[in-house]
Amino acid sequence: MPPVLIACPVTGDLVPTGETVASLEELEGEYLLIACSDCGRDHEWARAEAVIAAEYTD
Ligand SMILES: [Zn+2]
Repeated sequence: MPPVLIACPVTGDLVPTGETVASLEELEGEYLLIACSDCGRDHEWARAEAVIAAEYTD
């Protein structure tokens, strides 16, 4: 399944959240936390902010 990305609020780049879903409706919970691989901080993010990686191919 494709990875879920969020835009890092520090760098603005898309970073993987570690979640993989077929559609964003499958995400559990309103807010989730990631250890950002881009800036190294922790970010709380909402499902509404997330995007599925468009370039993903199985
Ligand atoms: Zn970040």
